[in-house]
Amino acid sequence: MSEFREIHNELKRRRAALERRLQLIADDMRRTQGPLDADSEEQAIELENAPVLDALDASGHDELAEINAALVRLSGGEFGECSECGEDIPIDRLHAMPTARTCATCTT
Ligand SMILES: [Zn+2]
Repeated sequence: MSEFREIHNELKRRRAALERRLQLIADDMRRTQGPLDADSEEQAIELENAPVLDALDASGHDELAEINAALVRLSGGEFGECSECGEDIPIDRLHAMPTARTCATCTT
C-alpha cells in the first residue's frame, strides 16, 4: 500500500480537480438550459455549446468513475494487478496512468 501512497494522493488530486470541473460544467449547463438570451446571436451560441457540454460532462463522469474504481482497488489491495493476466502492472505505468486496470501487454 505504501508504494502506492503517491498514486493515491494523485488520484485524490485528480478527483478533486475533476469534481470542480464537473461543477463548472453543471453550472454552465444550467445556464444554457435556462431562459435563452433575447439576443438571437447569443441564442445560437448557447444552443451550439449544449452538446459540447453534454459530452464534457459524460466523459468527466466516466473519468470520475475510473478514479473512484481505482481508489476502491487501492483500499481493497487489488490495485496494481492486471485484470486480464493477474500480473503486477509496472509502477511506471501506474504513475503515468493511475486508473490503468491492465498491463501494457494486455492493453494492446
Ligand atoms: Zn496483463
